[in-house]
Amino acid sequence: MPVAERLRPFGSTVFADMAALAARHDAVNLSQGFPDFDGPAPVLEAMGRAAAGNRNQYAPTHGVPELRRAIADWAALFGGPAIDPDAGVTVTCGCTEAIAATVLGMIDPGDGVVLFEPFYDSYLATLHMAGAKVMPVPLAPDDEGVFVFDEGRLREAFATGPRAILLNTPHNPTGKVFTRTELALIADLCMEHDVVAITDEVYDHLVLDGPDEHVRLAGLPGMAERTITFGSIGKLFNVTGWKVGWAVAPPELTRAVRAGHQFLSYAANTPAQVASALALREHLGFTAELRTHFRAMRDLLSEALLDAGLRVFGAPSGYFVMVDHTAVSERLGVDGDVEFCRYLVEEIGVAAIPPSSFYVDRRLGRPFARFAFCKTRATIEAGAERLGRL
Ligand code: GLN
Repeated sequence: MPVAERLRPFGSTVFADMAALAARHDAVNLSQGFPDFDGPAPVLEAMGRAAAGNRNQYAPTHGVPELRRAIADWAALFGGPAIDPDAGVTVTCGCTEAIAATVLGMIDPGDGVVLFEPFYDSYLATLHMAGAKVMPVPLAPDDEGVFVFDEGRLREAFATGPRAILLNTPHNPTGKVFTRTELALIADLCMEHDVVAITDEVYDHLVLDGPDEHVRLAGLPGMAERTITFGSIGKLFNVTGWKVGWAVAPPELTRAVRAGHQFLSYAANTPAQVASALALREHLGFTAELRTHFRAMRDLLSEALLDAGLRVFGAPSGYFVMVDHTAVSERLGVDGDVEFCRYLVEEIGVAAIPPSSFYVDRRLGRPFARFAFCKTRATIEAGAERLGRL
């Protein structure tokens, strides 16, 4: 067995598997979360100009200065604390590397980490790489279909003496926007138990509708000095393939992020960083348009899913809508999320993500499927038409 024991349970990622299946069956691909249309032309051209203009060697390990400054200014715009671009911003190869750099840079084998499930799949694999002890806290839909956690479970997890909590708001895959009240509870627990908060906020600009706005955990009283916040240029400007992300944190915690980052990738792609700086400075208007478009696509897709007989949860943010497929699956005689998504891609021609690999206890994901709506209208309409066959 060539794969190391700590990674053996994970196999290949569900994103790669579903992308391959979607291609094989010529399905409308609503699985992996990536926009199927480009970001602003001047941003794309800036990348080309940087490459043609001598910006092709290693960037400084922590990121090109103009991007670190742009990130610090941008983050301050959204309710975060003032950030020192030199001592508090680290540019990484996408947010996925920021997670790995932080976890590997900060967590010793046996350290506890509190983790809401479902989660973006790399979290758990990365925690395994670091030898962390994972303390899962489930998010489950209430009667109104809002994903919530049990306060008692969260308190129990904190009572075990963890080193950190790994949080994601707005949340993939549920679209949950953690409320100010929920975040205040998390903040209180972090302070009470001296826990570091690691928060992935890559969908921060994609709160599609109320009642809750995105609240930065680092902006809550007492949290700036114990929070590491991740962001991503890919999600802001439809350039997920650029793999430019970042970690913003106070200098002490930044040292931990950099301890990991310098040996994982050393530095992120130079021309993409140069263009990312321009994007953050001059093209934030694009993200406002994106919000309007995604809101409409969310509504269109949700309606089609509902018409197909699925229970559709509200998707107040991000790229994704979750459904409960059990009623339809029973009728079709298929069992669980993986079988349902296989049926969907093979018989209906639509690819979605079976989310059981987003859970520590995979059984919790069996009733659900995740659909991406971060697509062109043509793609969503094609998907909706095929869903009619259900
Ligand atoms: N974050 C994206 C999603 O959830 C995919 C990222 C990836 O494929 N690694 O679909």
